[in-house]
Amino acid sequence: MRMYGWIGAIRLLVYPVRGDLRRAGAWLRTCGLLAAAWVWAAGVAVALPLQPEQVAPGVWMVQGVSALGSPANRNFISNAAFVDTPAGVVVIDALGSPALAQELIQAIGRVTPQPIRHVVVTHYHADHIYGLQAFQAPGVTITAHRGGLSYLHSDTARLRLQASREELAPWIDENTRLVPADRWIDGPTRFSLGGVDFVLQPVGPAHTPEDLVVFLPGSRILFAGDIVFRGRIPFVGQADSGRWIEALDRLIDFDARLIVPGHGPVSASAQADLKLTRDYLVHLRQAMGEAARNLEPFEEAYAKADWSRFEHLPLFKAANRINAYNTYLLMEQGGR
Ligand SMILES: [Zn+2]
Repeated sequence: MRMYGWIGAIRLLVYPVRGDLRRAGAWLRTCGLLAAAWVWAAGVAVALPLQPEQVAPGVWMVQGVSALGSPANRNFISNAAFVDTPAGVVVIDALGSPALAQELIQAIGRVTPQPIRHVVVTHYHADHIYGLQAFQAPGVTITAHRGGLSYLHSDTARLRLQASREELAPWIDENTRLVPADRWIDGPTRFSLGGVDFVLQPVGPAHTPEDLVVFLPGSRILFAGDIVFRGRIPFVGQADSGRWIEALDRLIDFDARLIVPGHGPVSASAQADLKLTRDYLVHLRQAMGEAARNLEPFEEAYAKADWSRFEHLPLFKAANRINAYNTYLLMEQGGR
């Protein structure tokens, strides 16, 4: 690589003298490609700037990739959204690294001259909150459900961040820190900005204890965090799937027209997506619950279960088995 670079540099000096600008340009491109290949091979993808996608008038989102977090994808595996009002911008979720969040702030600046006023956190999972520190500024209020406080002070959060500094370097490093909300809410909360009404509705404990969804009653748009997964298998983790199913039932009552999920594309088939997530959780609980009650070993139960309705979905291989295992343990403990 270094040798090619030197030869390229020497030729760049020589070619213009010979008047061969076209060939010099080709060399520049070759060097650029080699550099890009090297950067890619080093596991650090050449990043394209975030492109917000308009999902409704004044409502925008950026969509992370369907994958596990890695240096190559910069931990850009979750969505963030923002609502542009005549009195300022409300951002929903902060993305998975400070650098990504900084890019999001720049992207918002390209869409609207309005300042960012609020950041609402749907839940304190790494891929949604590692960007928070980039939003901290006078005049910006970060809001989350109080359930996130105990996570912030937990060993889990500290160890997760420690591991991420290694696994997601250089995007997560020693300067990345966990940021508490400025305002912790305990129940349903409404506010209005620039004539747009926002409903913050706690729906946890479901995916996490602090799950919070944001609903715009005016346009019937629901920012559902990780309560609704679209186009991929959810990560159930240690979630209380029984409560999660109840939360989904409550969301169905919102009668949303559009859902901006925490992962995957915007959904214009809100009810069907709510139902898919719900059906998956119900299926997990049925298949694993029966096995746990019959004291059937997990491996046998897993092999026997019918996954045909879900196995075509992205991340099935990465997530389904661990989801099933966690559900098995939950049901073994007499899970609700
Ligand atoms: Zn997530």
